[in-house]
Amino acid sequence: MIQSRNPYTAELLNSYEEEKAYRIEEKIQQAHAAFIEWRRRPLDERAALMQRVAALLRERKESLAQLMTQEMGKVRREALAEVEKCAWVCEYYATYAGLFLTEEMVHTDASRSYVRFAPLGVVLAVMPWNFPFWQVFRFAAPALMAGNTALLKHASNVPQCALAIEKLFLDAGCPAGVFQTLLIGSQAVEAVIRHDRVRAVTLTGSEAAGRKVAAIAGESLKKTVLELGGSDPFIVLPDVDIESVAAKAVQARMINNGQSCIAAKRFIIHADVYDDFTEAFIAHMHKLRFGNPEDEHTDYAAMARHDLRDELHEQVTRSIKAGAMCLLGGKPIQHAGACYEPTVLAGVVPGMPAFDEELFGPVAALIKASSTEEALALANRSSYGLGGSVWTADTLKGERLAQQLEVGCAFVNGIVKSDPRLPFGGVKHSGYGRELSIFGIREFVNIQTVWIA
Ligand code: NAP
Repeated sequence: MIQSRNPYTAELLNSYEEEKAYRIEEKIQQAHAAFIEWRRRPLDERAALMQRVAALLRERKESLAQLMTQEMGKVRREALAEVEKCAWVCEYYATYAGLFLTEEMVHTDASRSYVRFAPLGVVLAVMPWNFPFWQVFRFAAPALMAGNTALLKHASNVPQCALAIEKLFLDAGCPAGVFQTLLIGSQAVEAVIRHDRVRAVTLTGSEAAGRKVAAIAGESLKKTVLELGGSDPFIVLPDVDIESVAAKAVQARMINNGQSCIAAKRFIIHADVYDDFTEAFIAHMHKLRFGNPEDEHTDYAAMARHDLRDELHEQVTRSIKAGAMCLLGGKPIQHAGACYEPTVLAGVVPGMPAFDEELFGPVAALIKASSTEEALALANRSSYGLGGSVWTADTLKGERLAQQLEVGCAFVNGIVKSDPRLPFGGVKHSGYGRELSIFGIREFVNIQTVWIA
C-alpha cells in the first residue's frame, strides 16, 4: 500500500494499491508508443504544450501548493514559490529548447557533417519527496521538449503530488503516454530499469538509492543521471558583516525545514569571528516561527515523515556523544507531527556524524577554522560535492576560493540555489550528470554524428 499521510497532523489522507506487473507493462508500452509519435512532433507544438503546462501550473497554484503542504509538510509560502518555479522551467525550455537542440555543422573531410540531438525514448525518473513538484519538472521539461517520454516513480509518501503532475500534463493536452506516473514502491524499480523499452534513468535521492539504481542501470547499459545528497559548506571569512551573513546562514540551513540537498549544512567559520557568528546565528534561529504549515506566518512545521525525524535525532545524538556541543534544540518537539527543534551543534569536527554524514533536517553544524586555507580544506573534506558558498567582503578572494571548492555549484555571497539558466548537479558522492540549462537537455539525447560524402 502506498500511503499519503499528513506529517504535521499524522492523519492518513489516502492510500493506494501499488500497481501490478501487468499494469506497469501496459504503461511502459504506452510510453514507448507515445514516443514514436511525440518525437516526430514539430518542436513548436511541443513548446506550445509546455507553455500550456506552465499556464495550468499557475492556474492551479493554490491547490497544488496545498497538496504539497498536506502531503509532506512544506510551509505554504515555500510551496507556492515551488509551483511558480515549475512554471518558469516549463517556459524556459519551451523558449530555448529549439536553440539548444539546433544541429551543429562541423567542417571535416565530408561534403557535409554535423551533430544532431535526437531523443532517446522512454526515460524513468525516480524522484524524492522534498521538492515534490520542482524535482519532477526540472527533469520533465527538458526531457519532453527533447522528444522523450517520461515515467515517474515518485517517492512513496507523495502519491497525490505524483498523480496531480500526471493530470497536469494530460489536461494541458499532452498525448496519453507522454508523461505517466507509476504508483510503485522502490522494490519494483529494478524491473522497470531492466525493461527493454526503458532507455535511461534519472534519480534524485539519497546516496544509497543512487548506488542501487546506478548498479542496475549499469548492468543493463543504460544512461543515468544521479542527483544525490550533499553536505554543503558555508564558509564565513572574518571580513563579513556578521549580522547579515548569520541571517542568510539560517535561511540557507532552514529552507524546506532543512530538507534540501543544497541547504548549507556545515558552517565553517573563521576563528576570528566564530563566537560572534555563533551568537548571531542562534539569535536568528530563535526568531523562526513554528506552526501549522498551512499558516502563512509559519517558518517551519513538520519534517516529511516520522522515521526521517527519528533518523535525524539519532544523528544528532551520535554527534553529541562524539563531542559536539548542542547550543540549541537537539530533540523532537512534543507534537503529533514529525517535528524537530531547530538545532545548533557547535565544535563539530571530522569524524562526527554532523560533519561526515548528510543531516537532512533543521540541524546546523558549526565548525571552527583557524585560517582561510583550513576552511577550504575542511570544506573539501567531505564525500559529497553538491554545492558550497563563500562569504566575504572581498569578492575576488571569494571567487578564487569558490573555484577551489570540490562542488558542482559554487556561490560567492549568495545562498546556493538552482536556476533553469544554469547547470545543476554534483561531483563525488553527490552524483553525476547535470540538470537544467543547455547541459540538462543534452543528457537524455543521442548526440548523433551525421557524415555525408
Ligand atoms: P530516497 O530515500 O533515496 O528516495 C528517493 C527516491 O528513490 C524515492 O522515489 C524512493 O522510493 C526511491 N528509492 C529508494 N531506494 C531505492 C532503491 N533501492 N531502488 C530504487 N529506488 C529507490 O531519498 P529521499 O529521502 O526521498 O530524499 C532525500 C535525499 O535526496 C537526500 O539525500 C537529498 O540530499 C537527496 N536530494 C538530492 C537532490 C539533488 O538535486 N542532488 C535534490 C533533492 C534531494 P520510495 O519512496 O518508494 O522509497
